[in-house]
Amino acid sequence: MDYNKLAELLFPHITKTPGDYEELFPNRKLPENAMVTRLGPSPTGFIHLGNLYGAFIDERLAHQSGGTFYLRIEDTDDKRYVDGAIETIITSLGFFGINFDEGAMLDGEIGGYGPYFQSNRGEIYQCFAKELVKNGLAYPCFLTEEELGDIRAEQEAAKVTTGIYGKYAEKSRSLSFEEIEENIKAGKPYVVRLKSSGNHDVPAEKVKYINVEDAVRGTISMPENDQDIIILKATGIPTYHFAHVVDDHFMRTTHVVRGEEWLMSLPIHVELFEKLRFEMPVYCHTAQLLKLDNGNKRKLSKRKDPELSLDYYRQEGYHPQAIKEYLLTILNSNFEEWRIDNPDAPMEDFEFTTEKMSSGGALFDLNKLNDVSKDVLVKLPANELANFLISWASEFKPEILPLLEGHEDYLKKILDLGRNGNKPRKDLIYGKQIFDFISYFFDDYFRIEDTIPENVSDEDAVAILSEYLKSYNHEDDQSQWFDKIRAIGSELGYAAKPKDFKKNPDMYKGHVGHISTVIRIALIGKSQSPDIWEIQQILGEEKTRERIATLIR
Ligand code: GLU
Repeated sequence: MDYNKLAELLFPHITKTPGDYEELFPNRKLPENAMVTRLGPSPTGFIHLGNLYGAFIDERLAHQSGGTFYLRIEDTDDKRYVDGAIETIITSLGFFGINFDEGAMLDGEIGGYGPYFQSNRGEIYQCFAKELVKNGLAYPCFLTEEELGDIRAEQEAAKVTTGIYGKYAEKSRSLSFEEIEENIKAGKPYVVRLKSSGNHDVPAEKVKYINVEDAVRGTISMPENDQDIIILKATGIPTYHFAHVVDDHFMRTTHVVRGEEWLMSLPIHVELFEKLRFEMPVYCHTAQLLKLDNGNKRKLSKRKDPELSLDYYRQEGYHPQAIKEYLLTILNSNFEEWRIDNPDAPMEDFEFTTEKMSSGGALFDLNKLNDVSKDVLVKLPANELANFLISWASEFKPEILPLLEGHEDYLKKILDLGRNGNKPRKDLIYGKQIFDFISYFFDDYFRIEDTIPENVSDEDAVAILSEYLKSYNHEDDQSQWFDKIRAIGSELGYAAKPKDFKKNPDMYKGHVGHISTVIRIALIGKSQSPDIWEIQQILGEEKTRERIATLIR
């Protein structure tokens, strides 16, 4: 068969040569060892934690090495396209501080290696499909749905691997030029398949293996590909496999970070890179994100786990810094240790490496995220935290915005409550939780939630509050204030120190802690909180007196 003639028959409109593209997209001029990474999402409109996890690895690898991180939109599957999906990808990742240097952008495309939408790269894919046909390494296949169905049924009945390979590929592989020409003239649809050189008909021990050095997993050894996979669909659109190889070559990607679900098709990609004579990038196949569910590890599911969606974290009001810091703890086993040694260093100073990534599942745990978030927020200056809370509220809880905006000084004092000593309190985790936690500072949200201690009678409670109000002086310092509470307790038969009460429980009705709990409940509605004296200083004299008085009535 004259393959040149066949290539012209199939792709008469393709006039550029592979050499033209090599020239058009030259090697990037970057510092030595700089990495070029990409995110290749399909525009389905759903962006999840797994995307962020992968994007974060891409971003760290590129930016830490002085390289480039670009966004390529993998939109060859037009059934899945959702309007606005690209904005969602860019803005959601941008919120977490993950920004692209190149590729699809909110207002067009930036960079010399585009187009960055696969749907606009048709000619490039076809040029390389043409090249493979020219070299006798790919061929048109006219098998109909029905024929494919029959082959599959036969294979299933014989319990052999399904697909087009070996004898199942014979029919299409052996079509003559004239037969192909006739089919095309008759308008028969066809796909272009790779003519795999893998041999399916050898005994298991003779099967050839491919070896790939994966940056996360080390050497991966797998049987070579022997399937005549589709490279161009009947519409002329490439499959993932073909687009991946062509794009990552011409966009000069050095490191392909992708989920482990792609491992299975690695032998196909190896064969394609070889047949196209392209250098292979370094693969980093990342582990699945898992969660613990009743003691069992399982994949996060879109249906069952709201925390899979990135929107969840924005709506709840997690600070992006907390999410990133947490991702690093699950991504690199040595990050936590580094953080202990470098408590105040910016996260970007940590050198992220693929070797320290686990290849088993990465366990995602909301409780652990919350712990990390507490540590991150405790270091955030109150004014930054206040601004963050205001911007979160303006988007996700606008009804509280009037309480915060324009009252920044009040808010800052509230957020700093108990944070300035040498053992700062770590009460604050994420927007929703923070507002619940501080809501007693706002009259509209103040409620009595807890009850007074059992050992304090209603009568005593009224007496405690009346005495407290009578003796209250807003100018008292903390110790003057506490002396007064002790005195009120002693007068009513409560021990001045908890330990006196513990020693002689029969001699007292309770101790000073019970007295302050009554006051705390009147003031903030809860039995647990930061220091009452400090709270009163923030609430101000008027509000303090008013809340105590309300409960006496
Ligand atoms: N479009 C593919 C996906 O959505 C990208 C995989 C890759 O990064 O190569 O999963």
